[in-house]
Amino acid sequence: MSRIVYVNGDYLPEEEAKISVFDRGFLFADGVYEVTSVIGGKLVDFDAHAARLERSMAELEMASPASRGELLDMHRELVARNGLDEGMVYLQVTRGAADRDFAYPAEATPTLVAFTQAVPVVDRPSARNGIKVISIPDLRWGRRDIKTVQLLYPSMGKMAAKKAGADDAWMIENDFVTEGTSNNAWIVKDNRIVTRHLGTEILHGITRAAVLRLAREAQMAIEERPFSLAEAKAADEAFITSASTFVTPVVEIDGQPVGRGSPGPVARRLREIYIEDACATAL
Ligand code: PLP
Repeated sequence: MSRIVYVNGDYLPEEEAKISVFDRGFLFADGVYEVTSVIGGKLVDFDAHAARLERSMAELEMASPASRGELLDMHRELVARNGLDEGMVYLQVTRGAADRDFAYPAEATPTLVAFTQAVPVVDRPSARNGIKVISIPDLRWGRRDIKTVQLLYPSMGKMAAKKAGADDAWMIENDFVTEGTSNNAWIVKDNRIVTRHLGTEILHGITRAAVLRLAREAQMAIEERPFSLAEAKAADEAFITSASTFVTPVVEIDGQPVGRGSPGPVARRLREIYIEDACATAL
């Protein structure tokens, strides 16, 4: 079944959607994106995703193609036109098409595209069973707080994980875990929840922020600080957060079981309260 996708103001069957060869997203990865999950046909944490998109564009001096209200309308229209009950909306903004030049064009009209993906997000085998991760060096650029479409290194990391019989990779810089290829990394030791502090080294995950808020509300002990790979391997529990995986347990790191090698109670509880909150606040 053909999807209806959004391209610069038009809703089109995916086969008819076209972008210029000169689009800077294609030539320079000069683009930013957001992924918002959909539960029961409603958008989870839309405002926070829109705010991060605005920040990403501002950091790159990129013109915004639409207001927050227009983006919300467009997301809802796309969800409705595709009859999406559960899954994701992917949105991408690029600087637009211009003759190839490293310098930003003086005037360019941003390209805005979006599409839906129908996938289960609430009930997933990975949430029930946990995932296995490997560690790899973090070889990405230094502005990981900007959500750009330069995703080749994370793709290479995922492939390395697959080849090693694992599901994902955690990236390591100076012995410390930065984050997963497409998620934030967390550990639990002696009932203290640890996740890396915000900075340019990691993406400021929307799910990370929501889980921190919910964990604090539930009186759980939290430390926002770097943790080493050795600390992660010796943890009682580990898990990841992202808009598409919510809270998903990590049961193995580099072939070694984390804790008892099965999803732990803290990750399970956080997933439950996150989904409860997401369902209650989705737009
Ligand atoms: N870190 C990276 C590198 C990501 O690519 C993502 C999501 O794509 C995340 C963290 C999680 O962010 P969010 O919770 O906003 O999906």
